[in-house]
Amino acid sequence: MKAALLTEIGKFEIRQIPDPKIFNDTDVLVRIKTIGVCGSDIHYYKTGKIGSQIIKFPFIIGHETGGVVELTGNKVAKVKPGQRVAVDPAVSCGHCDQCTTGRENTCRKLLFLGCPGQLQGCLCEYIVIDEKSCFPIKDTTTFEQATLSEPLAIGVYSVDRSMITLSADTAILGAGPIGMSVFHALRARGNNNVFITDKIEDRLNFAGTLNPRWSGNPDRTDIVKEISKINPLLMDVVFECSGDPRAVIQAIDLLKPGGTLVIVGITETDEISFPIHELRRKEITIINIRRQAHCTQKAIDLLEQGKINMDAMATHHFSLEEIQKAFDMVAGYKDGVMKAIISI
Ligand SMILES: [Zn+2]
Ligand SMILES: [Zn+2]
Repeated sequence: MKAALLTEIGKFEIRQIPDPKIFNDTDVLVRIKTIGVCGSDIHYYKTGKIGSQIIKFPFIIGHETGGVVELTGNKVAKVKPGQRVAVDPAVSCGHCDQCTTGRENTCRKLLFLGCPGQLQGCLCEYIVIDEKSCFPIKDTTTFEQATLSEPLAIGVYSVDRSMITLSADTAILGAGPIGMSVFHALRARGNNNVFITDKIEDRLNFAGTLNPRWSGNPDRTDIVKEISKINPLLMDVVFECSGDPRAVIQAIDLLKPGGTLVIVGITETDEISFPIHELRRKEITIINIRRQAHCTQKAIDLLEQGKINMDAMATHHFSLEEIQKAFDMVAGYKDGVMKAIISI
């Protein structure tokens, strides 16, 4: 099959490699139709790693995808050949202490598509993945929507885990695909009090389509000052979706005493510092988000029921051969790109 291999930092090569084979009875061979370029893919592209997950080149990255079932193992009951599916890129073991307590996303033996040392990614024509990760979609749902259900699931999970109330004053720092997924998830459940920030004007304009209460650029305005003018009591919940360590500090400044900081964004550095006295004085709760659990179907339902429409998020389209161009565009935040979609 044809595959886009990351052969060194910042460089892809299109090569022919052997087709993946069904190995276990619960394996499904999926023919890939679309792949979304994720911020985490960009970390691998720019630095070859995320924390201790370090790429051994060449490697296939990519994990946001939709496709068609081509073949199934003997015991697969969930899907049949020809079924169109969204793919949950995480495969949990189903047996460890985490899995048995409903925390599959922190499974001790978690395997993730396109994660070094775990599973080969989906920037190629076929993948083999456990049936648990295959989610049937309607014929009217596009592969692009299936692909977008992956980041949306993280938004839905982040909002679920924040235990946010309907009237809560909420800020989202970072209006990229994950920040927008959080925004969509909040709007779908009726939260209308959303303040949003980003350093890229195109992204603020994009966020404007969901009618935030206020939006602003931290490079141009003192966002804490501006938001406190509108809302002197400050925020109940802040979702940090930018991965910028300075935004974490802003988030803490923006929170009211007893507020909740939800860390969704992935930083490029291994360590960041927190103003510990401020955290203690305000008694801030910090919630970390590790991908998502139990939210893939919820995200698909929200899209299929028309409660969320994220189609506008797929701003740029490329073929597999144009992969380098797609990654350079996303890495450089060029041309107002939100989500670049690769079609095969
Ligand atoms: Zn992703
Ligand atoms: Zn497990």
